[in-house]
Amino acid sequence: MANIKEWKSDDWTIKIDYDKCVGDGECVDICPAEVYILVDEKSVATNIDECTECCSCVEVCPEEAIEHSSC
Ligand code: SF4
Repeated sequence: MANIKEWKSDDWTIKIDYDKCVGDGECVDICPAEVYILVDEKSVATNIDECTECCSCVEVCPEEAIEHSSC
């Protein structure tokens, strides 16, 4: 069974496939709103409410682990 983590704001949802996430932090580095932190080598969308829907995280992830409802 897939290990998908999900975060929701009022307007969008971010899903990260933890089977794919290798914790290399590309999303942490590129996100202009500092939405992500790394916890135990997995990305966590702690500050989802700050997201500006730029879609950079989805594009930069080398594992294609991130799904964003606006992107
Ligand atoms: S869409 Fe942009 S602002 Fe939102 S979490 Fe991804 S990189 Fe950050």
